[in-house]
Amino acid sequence: MNCPCGGPSKFSINTTLRKKPIKGNNIKSVSFNECCAKYLDMGNRATDAEALMRSRYSAYVLGRVNYLNATWHKRTKPDQLSLENEVKWLGLEVKCFTQSQSNLAEVEFVARYKIDGKAYRLHERSRFQQEKLENSDLALKADEMAWFYVDGDIFD
Ligand SMILES: [Zn+2]
Repeated sequence: MNCPCGGPSKFSINTTLRKKPIKGNNIKSVSFNECCAKYLDMGNRATDAEALMRSRYSAYVLGRVNYLNATWHKRTKPDQLSLENEVKWLGLEVKCFTQSQSNLAEVEFVARYKIDGKAYRLHERSRFQQEKLENSDLALKADEMAWFYVDGDIFD
C-alpha cells in the first residue's frame, strides 16, 4: 500500500533553516514499507520533525496509539489517548517546515478527513522538540536523541 502520509517529503533536505518545497510534480508516492513503516514498525527514529509529523499522521490513520504516545512530549502528552474510529483520514499535505533551532521545529500541514460522510480539514502548525531519550528501554545508545510532538496552533 502507498504510505498514508503521502510521502516522500516534498521539502528539500539541502536547506536547513526554512525548508522549501521541491519544484515540479514528478514526485511519486512511496510504499508504506519504504516510508513510515521505518518508524512505526522498524524502530527507526524520525530524523527530522517533518518525518516525525508524517509518521504520526500515518499512526493516526493506522490506529497506532502506542506510537502516538511514544512520540508525544511528556510535558503535553494526554493521560489517555483514544482514537475515534469514525474518523476516516483522507490525506495529508505538509505546507511548511521550519527548523528554528537545532532542537526546535514547526510543521504546518492540512489533514483532510471525513466523519459520517461529511468532509473536514484540520489546518495546524505543530511544534516539535528534539530531546534526549530518558527511558532506557527506548534509547538504544546513551544520549540518543529523538523528536517529539509538543503542541500546535489550529488555523480557521
Ligand atoms: Zn509515510
